[in-house]
Order: sequence, then C-alpha cells, then structure tokens
Amino acid sequence: MGSPQGTVYLLHFDRPYEHARHYTGWTTDLDSRLAEHATGRGARLLEVVSAAGIGWELARTWPGTRARERQLKRQGGASRHCPMCGVKPRNGGLSVQVQAVNRQAQRKYAEFIGALDFVREVLTEAGKLVKKHNGKPGDAAWSIPDRDELEAAHKKAVDDLQALRSSAKKYEKELVSRTWRV
Ligand SMILES: [Zn+2]
Repeated sequence: MGSPQGTVYLLHFDRPYEHARHYTGWTTDLDSRLAEHATGRGARLLEVVSAAGIGWELARTWPGTRARERQLKRQGGASRHCPMCGVKPRNGGLSVQVQAVNRQAQRKYAEFIGALDFVREVLTEAGKLVKKHNGKPGDAAWSIPDRDELEAAHKKAVDDLQALRSSAKKYEKELVSRTWRV
C-alpha cells in the first residue's frame, strides 16, 4: 500500500523556539499547506511558534512520500539540510556576535565605498576646472602650475582612486564569499 507522492518541506524559524529551529512536514499541496501554517494551523509546533511571534521561511523541499519525510526526520539535524543555516557541520547559524560584527563591517564598507564615490565626484569637478585653466603662467606674481602639471596631478589622483576602488571591490568579493565572517 504505497503512500502518494507529495512534497517534504523544511521550514526554518527566524529564531529558535526552545530547542527547535525547524519544522519538517509532508503534503500533497504545498501552497495550501504553507498558507495554513502561515495562520498557525496544521501542526502543533507551528501553533506555538506562531503564538511566540516567531516567523519562518520555506528553506527547501524534497519530492517524495511520507516515508521520505519519516526518513528525513529520523536522520535528524535538519540544519544540515537547511540552506538558511549555511553549510556548516554543526549547530547551524553564525553566532550572534559574529553576525553583529558582520553587519557592522558591511555598514562600514558601504560608508567607505560611498566616500570613494564622493572623492571621485570631486575629482571629476576638479578635472573640469583643470581643463578651463588657460595655462599662462607668469601672469601673476606667484608661480602657478601650468595646465600639463595640473592634468598630470589630476590623472594620478584618478588612477590612485581607481586602484583603491578595485582593491576594495576585490576585498568585498572575498568577504562576501566568506559570508562576511571576519
Ligand atoms: Zn535552518
């Protein structure tokens, strides 16, 4: 007597309820089942999770029968299967402190990139001024750099900024690939 084909689904909680971080279920109609869970119905654990004000997300699904659901539940360690817990061997999820540091680092980095953009804008404006400079040294009593000198200085500043920006981008890629773990 086989059971019908359906979907095994894994819900990941925004924060743990006691020791529970996940709910594994099985259904033949995922959409209506999730809608039911969204109102806190359909499973005792989700009732209490909902009452505690904890949200959840559909983390992943497997096609299969109830037997597949039982098998996955028996294996335990739902976080090992959970993409939202990352691919970490034990107790999924970064520590709260690490997450806070990462958020801080991301925000600082965004500010840094914003500052680079600002400097680039200023340099662009400076570049326009350099082009307007008529290049007649000696008119004034003091010496002023001629246009070639100004242009060379401006170009060097732009190049330096570009180099800084691309190394920052490289660093960003590296950070992101490590999920901002520092
Ligand atoms: Zn998870």
